Amino acid sequence: MAIRQLPVLPARASEPQISPDYVRISMASAIALRMRSGRFSRDFDFGGINLLLNYDEGCLSDCGYCGLARTRPGAYEDKSFIRVEWPLVRTDDLVDRMARHEATLTRLCISMVTHGHAYRDTCDITRRIAERVSTPLSILVAPPTLNRERLETFKALGVDMIGIGLDAVTEDLFRHIRTDVPAGGLKWEKYWEVVTDAREIFGPWKVNVHTLVGLGETDRDLIEIFLALRDRQIFSYLFCFNPEPDSRMADLAKSPLTRWRRVQLAKHLIESEGYDLSQFDFGPDGALARLRADQASVQAVVDQGVAFVTNGCPGEKGEPGCTRPYGSYRPSEPFRDYPFMPGPGDLAEIRQQIRLDEVLG
Ligand code: SF4
Repeated sequence: MAIRQLPVLPARASEPQISPDYVRISMASAIALRMRSGRFSRDFDFGGINLLLNYDEGCLSDCGYCGLARTRPGAYEDKSFIRVEWPLVRTDDLVDRMARHEATLTRLCISMVTHGHAYRDTCDITRRIAERVSTPLSILVAPPTLNRERLETFKALGVDMIGIGLDAVTEDLFRHIRTDVPAGGLKWEKYWEVVTDAREIFGPWKVNVHTLVGLGETDRDLIEIFLALRDRQIFSYLFCFNPEPDSRMADLAKSPLTRWRRVQLAKHLIESEGYDLSQFDFGPDGALARLRADQASVQAVVDQGVAFVTNGCPGEKGEPGCTRPYGSYRPSEPFRDYPFMPGPGDLAEIRQQIRLDEVLG
């Protein structure tokens, strides 16, 4: 991604630059809204706009892998989130831009952080957006700040989908990385309470759980959670752990590409082809060892390419909506997920990476 570092919308120095009057937006969103100039190395449409609440104190949680974690060294304003820069902009200027570019937008999302004002400010920003822009809006929620009544308020304000960043897919891992850490305290039970309430309030396929590959979980752990969520008509969205410099998990390697591709395929087979647990065999370490399936039909799924497109809340007509280019990898690295349908050259690479013959037959 080539970016010219020109801040187009300088913040006004006299105002506190915090939410609800200021928000951060992903660099890709800033480019899509022409608030920064730049272009991607490949040409593709991009209409997902991701906002992040902004506070002087930052996020009060302290997750071991997160760029915004409270005890990660550095000033909050210099911190990255999923390894990309997030320019700070005035909320009203942003909403103006959204209104102007509405025809090209596919999905909007406000990411909350753990902070005492996060719920109040998310409602405020949602109102400002909903008054002027009709693009479907998601909220990636901060469960510690919410309860059932607050989720109902989000729905009443016009929010379309709810995302829950569970990230760690087992209770043990969650506790180790997000609860029992210096300024932790996030609760596994609270996250699932919010999943359940959101599913009841927002309905089938209107809730998603973000799951992170590479935090120490097994393939079996991932496949079991994909199945459990599918059976509740909740999407699982895949993210690839991408070490943030200076975070507590900065030295942990990313998952190998072969594993990542097989996990993408397994999730797609579960969600779109109706696979169940009996169709997956695992080794003693919980790694996927064999797919009990017809070789030609699995090959056909790989050849479609959909399994490898970025997971995210859809656009109004079900098209890819939130595609977060470069969210799980650097522009210099191979695509982990594709913010567009992979082309013939991409599919040839995917076939080499996935080594399907080792798990079929
Ligand atoms: S997939 Fe994108 S739009 Fe949906 S909740 Fe996650 S970050 Fe937000």
